[in-house]
Amino acid sequence: MKIGFLGTAAAEGIPAVFCNCETCDLSRRLGGKNVRTRSQILVNDDLLIDFPPDAYAHVLKYGIDFSAVKYVLFTHSHPDHCHPFEFIYRGKPYSHNATEPILKIYGNETVTALVQKLISHELKDDAKQTMNICAVSPYQTFSAGDYEITALPAAHTKGEDCLIYLIKQDGKTYLQFNDSGILPDSVYEFLARRNEKIDLVSFDCTHGFARVGTGRHMGALDNASERERMQKFGIVRDNTKYVITHFSHNCHSTHADLTEKAAALGFIPAHDGLIIEI
Ligand SMILES: [Zn+2]
Ligand SMILES: [Zn+2]
Ligand SMILES: [Zn+2]
Repeated sequence: MKIGFLGTAAAEGIPAVFCNCETCDLSRRLGGKNVRTRSQILVNDDLLIDFPPDAYAHVLKYGIDFSAVKYVLFTHSHPDHCHPFEFIYRGKPYSHNATEPILKIYGNETVTALVQKLISHELKDDAKQTMNICAVSPYQTFSAGDYEITALPAAHTKGEDCLIYLIKQDGKTYLQFNDSGILPDSVYEFLARRNEKIDLVSFDCTHGFARVGTGRHMGALDNASERERMQKFGIVRDNTKYVITHFSHNCHSTHADLTEKAAALGFIPAHDGLIIEI
């Protein structure tokens, strides 16, 4: 399984859209890995996690064929993760010769209702025929082609069932973990009961190297505690890889800073364009 980190910033991006803080100024000056778009992950060439406002920029930057994507998994309805307006352009006359005829879109009930609402005023019948929108709930396992996917409850915000996803294919297992704070034992107990062994974890590291404790996001020290808990529950391997991502400009770190501090903790800091194979 190939996991591509197309965007690695928290909601406001780095540099943030309206911000002139020192970090955002430095990001504009240094460019490269110091520029981060809103978070989106591409698994292989056909499964996206979230669809942020920068999705189209990702098509341009990486030359991806989004018409080849078969599945989109939404984590939750926050606007940096759920910006579904581009789906309007999936049908004629806006697009032709799609590689895949049908796009299946999964999310909690808040997300599926929001996606329908936001695109309904402009959605032509042709585009409607090309999309299949399915609501999923925490602890639900479903098949999408040869992926086995389990939605798990994130610790993020009240008012909707925010999700993280466990994705399995060909004996490999990936747990993506944003947006989320620290999970309750019940989630790890569920994975342990199913005898899951995760090969790659990508953590919400919104707060950089701060320790957040309880909250709706994490920092790298929280990520390290989560890794220990996963080890205690026996749901990871000795050679499991851990990526940290979804960074806020308020981390006040360049990519070089993050890389140095992350290495000391045994983490791989994501940057836009990072690809990890498991
Ligand atoms: Zn977010
Ligand atoms: Zn800033
Ligand atoms: Zn969020």
